[in-house]
Amino acid sequence: MASEISTSPVAASVAVLVPLALPEPYDYAVPAGLTLSPGDYVVVPLGAQQLIGVVWGPAAGGFDRKKLKAVAERLDAPPMPEALRRFIDWISGYTLAPRGSVLRLAIRAPGALEPPRLRIAYRLTDARPARMTPARLRVVETAGDGFARTIRELAGEAGVSDGVVRGLVEAGALAAVEMPAEAPFPAPEPDTVGMVLAPDQAEAAAVLVARVAEDRFSATLLDGVTGSGKTEVYFEAVAEALRRGRQVLILLPEIALTQQFLDRFEGRFGCRPAEWHSDLSTRERARVWRGVAEARARVVVGARSALFLPFSELGLIIVDEEHEAAFKQEDGVPYHARDMAVVRASLGAFPIVLSSATPSLETVVNADQGRYRRLRLEARHGVAEMPSIEAIDMRRDPPERGRWLSPRLVIEMTRALEAGEQAMLFLNRRGYAPLTLCRTCGHRFECPQCSSWLVEHRFRRELACHHCGYTAPVPTACPACGEEDALVACGPGVERIAEEVTALFPQARIAVISSDNLRGPAAHRAAFAAIEAREVDIIVGTQIVAKGHHFPWLTLVGVVDADLGLENGDLRAAERTFQLLQQVAGRAGRAERPGRVLLQTYMPDHSVMRALVSGDRDTFLDREAQARARVHLPPFGRLVGVVVAAADADLARRTAREMARRVPKAEEVSVLGPAPAPMALLRGRTRLRFLVKAGRNVNVQAFMQAWLGPIKLPTAVRVSVDIDPYSFM
Ligand code: ADP
Ligand code: ZN
Repeated sequence: MASEISTSPVAASVAVLVPLALPEPYDYAVPAGLTLSPGDYVVVPLGAQQLIGVVWGPAAGGFDRKKLKAVAERLDAPPMPEALRRFIDWISGYTLAPRGSVLRLAIRAPGALEPPRLRIAYRLTDARPARMTPARLRVVETAGDGFARTIRELAGEAGVSDGVVRGLVEAGALAAVEMPAEAPFPAPEPDTVGMVLAPDQAEAAAVLVARVAEDRFSATLLDGVTGSGKTEVYFEAVAEALRRGRQVLILLPEIALTQQFLDRFEGRFGCRPAEWHSDLSTRERARVWRGVAEARARVVVGARSALFLPFSELGLIIVDEEHEAAFKQEDGVPYHARDMAVVRASLGAFPIVLSSATPSLETVVNADQGRYRRLRLEARHGVAEMPSIEAIDMRRDPPERGRWLSPRLVIEMTRALEAGEQAMLFLNRRGYAPLTLCRTCGHRFECPQCSSWLVEHRFRRELACHHCGYTAPVPTACPACGEEDALVACGPGVERIAEEVTALFPQARIAVISSDNLRGPAAHRAAFAAIEAREVDIIVGTQIVAKGHHFPWLTLVGVVDADLGLENGDLRAAERTFQLLQQVAGRAGRAERPGRVLLQTYMPDHSVMRALVSGDRDTFLDREAQARARVHLPPFGRLVGVVVAAADADLARRTAREMARRVPKAEEVSVLGPAPAPMALLRGRTRLRFLVKAGRNVNVQAFMQAWLGPIKLPTAVRVSVDIDPYSFM
């Protein structure tokens, strides 16, 4: 290949991958005078567009070179590292998403490839204006320390108008200098003194440090109860990687990316890590992306998409809360960030640590089978003890009519409040009521575009669809029968529980915490700070409060509906319910005062409730594993979800039937469906589902290609393929 390029009579050519839904790179001519290497960021013409792309390798050839379009320019940025390019290839091969779509995940930082911005700042010169006013004098004094400042900063510090500063610039007393506009990345300091680790923590930390020192791929499960100090332990591995001059990525589920975590990092390493998540401004994204590419950002704490940052010196990945479903990306390129992080570590030949108090069955099986090493932390750090967990049998101890809290739970709440402690009620349902119906005619309020009931949000006075965002005001009369005041709210959401709590404890300070009333990181911060400062007595919250937070005064957790997650029959329902409730329970009693957890359930004998009450997680997971092994479900078999969707219901059904006819025969593979998806209508599109079940060692990607590759789909139909699905809706 290389010799072909050099002996070619015309200019050389290269293959450039562009961030569009295209499976392969396109060939481009390299204009004379330009030298390109794999990984270089370039601008190329495509149709009428100019796109940023990445040189993927030598041109595939087979085209008339003279007809090739030419690369327009090479951008000034460190080339995309080889490991990231191989990672993109790998993910595309695994998920069957077009390579260009995967690339898009890696260059989704607008502006990052433009030359770094400069800002104009001003420094004092020796010249002084002829006319010196008191205001001018203040500016001169402020600038007298020799530091350069912008006009805005100078005016602000000196307490004068911008005009006064501009006058001094015109008079020559201040001279302009160009400064980088972006804040630099402070270097985390590995050798500050951290906490003194307890013996079991120190032992686990030593193993992790040794694995970092080995400098090759390995996967370790850090399996420790909530509050056992897993974070402190893996910080030691982070420190070791930093000492060895490597970059580190800490992946957290978006929801756990809290101020608290960043504060702890700063406490250990003396500065903030770089952050990567959906709340960053475009400008901050560009800054972090560039900082990672130039290896100035040494540690990134980020949500799943941080996996696609252009690290060139990455030497360790930590996946905290590795069991979290939030690591699964459902839209666009469907990938599981935990699994892909393992692939990234393997391609980069460095260690990865998966941390959790409730590891996923997939990871536990990998540990049991020896592919991952397992480290355990069995006890909470210091005097804190594990909370006691009890089930309240709602059949025996039911709430009063129209209420949701059993007398038993109310008594315990009273006790906690009297002791000056905090109580938390957990219900994983936003809004006031999940269903509204008419008492007279039975009409139910359903989303016009989705198969879902509208959820009443009383604070906002509207009915909302949680799938598509459709909203409507709450009517006073039933739209079906016209009856006034006949609408009833069925079932509780957090807002309704808050209403009940207010009636029961009129003196208590109550905080409702759900994504509806906490918009943006600042609101989160304020809410959690108020809880820590004991400005709140009772917290009513959705899963936002379940995870990662440390509330020293919280001693009682009441789970309003422990059965909620078991309703949908997907294969991980029990596992996930266990994980979620165990995480919620872990919020109680994290400091000196012991915690109690009460689970309101109509199924106290369900394996999940028993495991929670007895604390016997391993037996529960063993049974789950056996049950899945018997029917060849993941991780003992493989699944692929296929959704066929179209606005035209008939077209969707016809296409699905045609696809069903063309399923190839293959050993150890069965294709179920098509069947209407549980969300049979979503955003106005009719949806049908197939489920592909295959043996552990079947190459499902090859099967899918053999099946779908030859099928020509009508353009109005969307078929999405989800390898290893987590959602079956
Ligand atoms: P986990 O991540 O396992 O839930 P954390 O790392 O959050 O546990 O630790 C729980 C609490 O105990 C935190 O407040 C942490 O600062 C504290 N802690 C853990 N280990 C130590 C230690 N060795 N010395 C002092 N405090 C510790
Ligand atoms: Zn909807």
